[in-house]
Amino acid sequence: MITKKLQDAINGQIAAEMWSANLYLSMSFYFEKEGFSGFASWMKKQSQEETAHACAMADYLIKRGGEAKIDKIDVVPQGWGTPLEVFEAAYKHECHISKLIDELVSVASSERDNATQDFLWGFVREQVEEEATAQGIVDKLKKAGDAGIFFIDSQLGHR
Ligand code: MG
Repeated sequence: MITKKLQDAINGQIAAEMWSANLYLSMSFYFEKEGFSGFASWMKKQSQEETAHACAMADYLIKRGGEAKIDKIDVVPQGWGTPLEVFEAAYKHECHISKLIDELVSVASSERDNATQDFLWGFVREQVEEEATAQGIVDKLKKAGDAGIFFIDSQLGHR
């Protein structure tokens, strides 16, 4: 059985994952309006991934005899700048999420909950990928000229 303290911390992360899902959906809508349908599609998939993270955490809590909750989700930013600025914001956000996951591991460790630490290592590894992917797109966009951006847009649409 999971402790109340750890349960609350994981529920907090569920809200953070859902906020991320909304953030990427907001970016997706923005890209669609701006005519970048590949980026829009990539962001929509990213959003679905975040929802899947929240669901995996909820499933885990229930498996451990806890209760999964969705807390209030704050409003996400609307309206962005260039594709580079959007992906820079996405990269910055993933670095923030990595910190939250690290804090969650610390709570699991202080609660002496080995199973939860083990569960969370998957997310620690996931964040390495998330940061690298976002950083990789930022790098590509920096090197691309105006025409290159449409090539990257079409590439990311195949995700
Ligand atoms: Mg996530």
